[in-house]
Amino acid sequence: MQYAGAVSRLIGELARLPGIGSKTAQRLAFFLLNEPPETAEKLALAIKEAREKVRRCSVCGNLTDLDPCRICADEGRDTGIICLVQDPRDVAAVEKYRGFKGVYHVLHGVLSPLAGIGPEKLNIKNLLTRLEGGKVREVILATNPDVEGDATALYLARLIKPLGVKVTRIAHGLPVGAHLEYADEITLGKAMEGRREMK
Ligand SMILES: [Zn+2]
Repeated sequence: MQYAGAVSRLIGELARLPGIGSKTAQRLAFFLLNEPPETAEKLALAIKEAREKVRRCSVCGNLTDLDPCRICADEGRDTGIICLVQDPRDVAAVEKYRGFKGVYHVLHGVLSPLAGIGPEKLNIKNLLTRLEGGKVREVILATNPDVEGDATALYLARLIKPLGVKVTRIAHGLPVGAHLEYADEITLGKAMEGRREMK
């Protein structure tokens, strides 16, 4: 079906979002067009504001509106232990488990040769800079327990261990292929506490 230019542009933009197919994009577009104008304005403003104010923390790479982020700036946290995750959503997931008092490092992805994602596309250089000071005792590799997450953990372990930093991998209490962000507090606690040193 052909829609007016502005309508099909809106549908096109919505359809680019992850998890939104063309049917859903049409439903969302017509919802916005049938609601009072304020609904669309509020959404547009929220997107614009978030995009303008939220950036990557210059220390850990997590998304933040303050730099350094609240976690990096928190003096009550142990900066000697870094939990490395692949995605900002995973920081929120690990934070549900209150037993972790260290800090984070967000990779923004995992190595994926098929998708053309090599080490240079990930937030690895900043990680090595953080490790240079000699104050970090342990890096917990908490990438997802799937093929790419495991391969990335192995790659990082080889990079980090020569620096004299202990490298551990979260336990596979998480079902294989399960993603950190969906794990509950207890499962996460077990995965963190059962972490093993990577040899
Ligand atoms: Zn930070």
